[in-house]
Order: sequence, then C-alpha cells, then structure tokens
Amino acid sequence: MNLTDVKELDSIDPFAQHREQFQLPVNKVYLDGNSLGAMTKATSARLQQVIQQQWSQDLISSWNEHNWVNLPQSVGEKIANLVGAQREQTICCDSISVNLFKALAAALTIAQRQGSGRNIVLSTKDNFPTDLYMVQGISQFVGEHRCQLKLVEENELEQQVDDKTAVVLATEVNFRTGKRLNAKQLITSAHSQGALVILDLAHSAGAMPVHLDDWEADFAVGCTYKYLNGGPGAPAFIYAAKRHHKNMSQPLSGWFGHARPFDFTPDYEPATGIQQMLTGTPSILAMAAVDSALEAFENVDMEKLREKSLQLAEVFHQLLEDAALGSCLQLISPQQREQRGSQLSYRYEHAYGLCQALIQRGVIADFRAPNYIRFGFTPLYNSFEDIWQAIEQLKQVIEAKEHLDPRWQSRNTVT
Ligand SMILES: *Cc1c(COP(=O)(O)O)cnc(C)c1O
Repeated sequence: MNLTDVKELDSIDPFAQHREQFQLPVNKVYLDGNSLGAMTKATSARLQQVIQQQWSQDLISSWNEHNWVNLPQSVGEKIANLVGAQREQTICCDSISVNLFKALAAALTIAQRQGSGRNIVLSTKDNFPTDLYMVQGISQFVGEHRCQLKLVEENELEQQVDDKTAVVLATEVNFRTGKRLNAKQLITSAHSQGALVILDLAHSAGAMPVHLDDWEADFAVGCTYKYLNGGPGAPAFIYAAKRHHKNMSQPLSGWFGHARPFDFTPDYEPATGIQQMLTGTPSILAMAAVDSALEAFENVDMEKLREKSLQLAEVFHQLLEDAALGSCLQLISPQQREQRGSQLSYRYEHAYGLCQALIQRGVIADFRAPNYIRFGFTPLYNSFEDIWQAIEQLKQVIEAKEHLDPRWQSRNTVT
C-alpha cells in the first residue's frame, strides 16, 4: 500500500466532510481521540455565545430563557440516539465515576428488593480502575453482605455469573487492549442467571453502534469527552432502562433529582423517570459544549462510521507490517475486526519513550502502563493520510532510536 492508495481511500471516505467541522491541531496527527476528543468549530462559537450573551447579559433568566434547566435531558436524548435508547432513559450529568455509584446503588437496591440475597458485583480484573474503585467504595460503605466485588478474567465473565451475582459490571471495550466484548450475549446470559448488567460505554459511545434497548441492558454509563468530543472533563451520561424506573432509587438524592426541586420542600421525593439520576446543578458551560459537539453526529450512520473506524485500524496495522515493524511492536488488540474497539494497542518494551518521541514529531498517541502504546482512531475526523503520516514518523523514530532518549526515563503525571 502506498500514499496514492491511501489518498484514494480519503477521496471516497463518506466522512471526509466531517473533518472540516473540527478545529484540529496544526501540523499534528491526532490519534488520541479515545482519551480526549478534538474540538468542533461550532463548540468554540457556542461557548463564546453562552459566555458573552447568556451568562454575561441574560444571567439568571437564562435558566428558563435559554433552557439551561433542561440541558441534562436534551443532551441526554441526543446521546440516546447514538446508543440505541428510546426517549426518557438517558441523561447527561456528573462523571462516569459518580454515575457508576448511582447505577450500582440502583441495581443493588433492585436486587435487594427482590429478596434474593445476592450481594456479588462481578467484574473483570482488567476493567478500568475507577469502575472497580467505585464498587470498593460502596462495599466499604454498606458492608460486604450487601456489596462484594468479585474479579474474574475477561474471558470468564459470562461463565462466572451465578445465583449470588447481583450485578455484572462490564466495560464494552477494554481501555488497554481495545478488546470488545459481546454485550448482547453477556446481557442475555446474565439475565438468564437472574443478574442485572451495568455497561460502561466509555470507549463505545460515538465510535460504534450501540443498541442498549435491543440488548435489554439494565443500566449504562458513558463518557462525552472521548469519542463524543464534549471537551475536557465534560459531563458523562447515565442510562436506566424504563422497566427499572419504578423500582430503582439512588442515594445521591440532590435537589435536581427531586420531583419538584423548586417547591423547596424539606423531604426528598424522587422524580419519576431518569431525572431521579440527577444530583446537583449542572455545569452549563460544560454541558453547552457537549450539546454543540453532538451536532457533528447529526445524520451520521453509526454502521458506516464503524466501518471507517475498522478500516483506519486495518490500514494502520497493514502499513506497520509493511514497514517490518510488526515484530517489534506486538499487537495486543484482537485480530478479528468484530472483537475490536476503535483503537489498536501494541506492547513494546520502550512504549513510553516511543510515545513521547512520536509526540515530539507531532503524532499524538498515548501510553498505558505497563508497556502499551495506544493509537485511537476517530472516524469522524481522522483521515487515511493521518494514518500514513503516523507510520512514517513511527518508522523514523525507531530508525533513529529516538525512543531511547534519556529524557523519557521519567514519566509525566498524565500519560
Ligand atoms: C475514561 C473512562 C472512565 C472515566 O471516568 P470519569 O469518572 O468520567 O473520569 C471510566 N471508565 C472507563 C472504561 C473509561 O475509559
């Protein structure tokens, strides 16, 4: 495959126009949209408007006039369209960690009300740590007789569900390896054992089709600052299937989750629907950015987007093999395309140095301990030529042994 072939792929890319909507960094190849998505031009303009007009001039009246008060719901519905959820089940708020707390509490409460004596939250050793930390925190708070974390290997998750399992907590795409599990199959199998499922969609939402309703998911959480491009620390989302709304409750019972927050009554009475997952006042600047960023997904066919994402990865790996780098960088992401997320991870002895040397050359990838380098492919704005450039720089770094530079002996706080 040569540069002409790569340019040919760009010329028939159905998402080539979408790239124009993003304000991409100058002279850089950005392959880290799985950590922090790029900014759309519209978001920059929208924030200016929110600051200069809504905040500065209209101030408090903006809660009604500019509908600030309904942003968690309206942004939630935009996200719902991307994750296969019918209306009134998805809301935008807080971080994944906080939303996990709420989802776990809600699911454990449902399990407990069924009187089944189930107390196990089953997850995988390699899950994203915050997911596990949140279970540990709840466990410490309510006691192990009500919440006990059990960790198993990823490939054993389904088989390990039993009559003690209250909740299966699974991340669809593994953040280190990019391995995608079969969510539908996991949910069906967990349900057959009487367990509920919480899905973490941090590396799925905006990168591939998700079908929460069709899969009969119970709860889900996800991120808006990765593939949804909502901005650093942008609020996350939480989904709860409608069938659980009557039976669920969550203990972060702040006033925004109240049935009538502006009655200011002393007793908490939860809102009836997904709104009861809200806690406090949303950050309007952050939420406005997500709202605007989601416009880039209007009329996007997620199946086609997924196809491009897989193709970007395939071209990347092909070029890497063509450059005879396949023997030193060992692919740890699955070989089969349907088992992949939207990233490729490689094991390499000097992964940290390699990553830093690439960044020096304007190719932005990231490092994950102990020795993985991750390349994230964001099909809305990455081009095939991006991939070509990345491999060109990769070849030069390794040839010149730039990854061995003593400067890379110590690590930054954020890798
Ligand atoms: C990025 C990520 C998170 C982030 O959690 P926050 O609380 O929003 O910081 C959680 N889970 C997974 C799997 C992630 O990849």
